[in-house]
Amino acid sequence: MSDRWRVVLHVDLDAFYVSAEVRDQPRLRGLPVVVGADPEGGKGRGVVVACSYESRKFGLRSGMPISRAYKLCPDAVYLSPDWGLYERMSEDVMSTLKASADRFEQASIDEAFLDVSSKAHDEESARSFAVDLKQAVREKHGLTCSIGVAPNKSAAKIASDRNKPDGLTVVPFNDVAGFLSPLAVGVVPGIGPKTQEFLRAKGLQRIGDLQRLDGRQLVSWFGKNGVWLWGVIHGEEGIEVRQQELPKSLSVERTFKEDTADFQTLRGEAASAASELARRLKSAKLAYRVVGIKIRFSGFETHTREKAITTHTDSEDALQKVVSDLLDEFEGSGRAFRLIGVRVSDLQRASSEPSRLDDWAKP
Ligand SMILES: [Mg+2]
Repeated sequence: MSDRWRVVLHVDLDAFYVSAEVRDQPRLRGLPVVVGADPEGGKGRGVVVACSYESRKFGLRSGMPISRAYKLCPDAVYLSPDWGLYERMSEDVMSTLKASADRFEQASIDEAFLDVSSKAHDEESARSFAVDLKQAVREKHGLTCSIGVAPNKSAAKIASDRNKPDGLTVVPFNDVAGFLSPLAVGVVPGIGPKTQEFLRAKGLQRIGDLQRLDGRQLVSWFGKNGVWLWGVIHGEEGIEVRQQELPKSLSVERTFKEDTADFQTLRGEAASAASELARRLKSAKLAYRVVGIKIRFSGFETHTREKAITTHTDSEDALQKVVSDLLDEFEGSGRAFRLIGVRVSDLQRASSEPSRLDDWAKP
């Protein structure tokens, strides 16, 4: 087969947070398991961060209010997130993936792109490479993953989602467009609910419907992202797998020159630290899903708190809101503070594709 092919794998760990918990506590295997806020007998606030495939049979979904999840499945095992465990496990698996690739680009805590063009040269050798990799991840880390194989990143990512969990989908290298054609437009990363609605109103529901449009039409609707979209739907997108890892977290800490018991001063410093963090996220083109604070009282007693939000975002407003909520618990303690830190984790890279076409759609 021609050597113009790149061979790209998109590896997506299945139900990662829950799978990490199950690997840590094997008695949970096969049970409906939910990671998220405390359901408090159905009165809890907050959301489902992740749920096992067994719990999905009851209608549970990540992002769903925890109170609703409890109504649908009160007998599930509810766990509060153990972020440290997920970060350590992610790091271990990612090092296995990285070692097997020519170029390795981590896209989120549980997803990565691998360019393996020197190790596989056609669909058959790519498939057996992916089978071996799935086996290595299972044996070394006790986790399953779903893999999409394609000649480019966007098709590999779409393919990895076709057959979950523990799936393997190989896109025909010489007919990427044909593979994509019957799929709903919403499978394209970046086509969110608003863009789907925009396209549905024009009678465009399948990728094949978009393939029949003139490229200039896409550009008139989506600006320069229309050029990217044209490439994706025709299997011509050629953004390379960049050799880069993903930071586990970003944080900004402020130490007071003198310890202060004034809570408004603490809030002000926290807000300013959050602003700086939001700027750093934007310039690094990263989105976050978990927000944490660190508070140190005089005398070095340190407390940390963390909270997950529904979806990945780079919004400063959302960051400020969560930081402010997490601080509430410490208000009125009357104690003096030495340090305030703000941290974001569960990061996701937003640089290889427009994170949302929604911002661009023009009727
Ligand atoms: Mg995943």
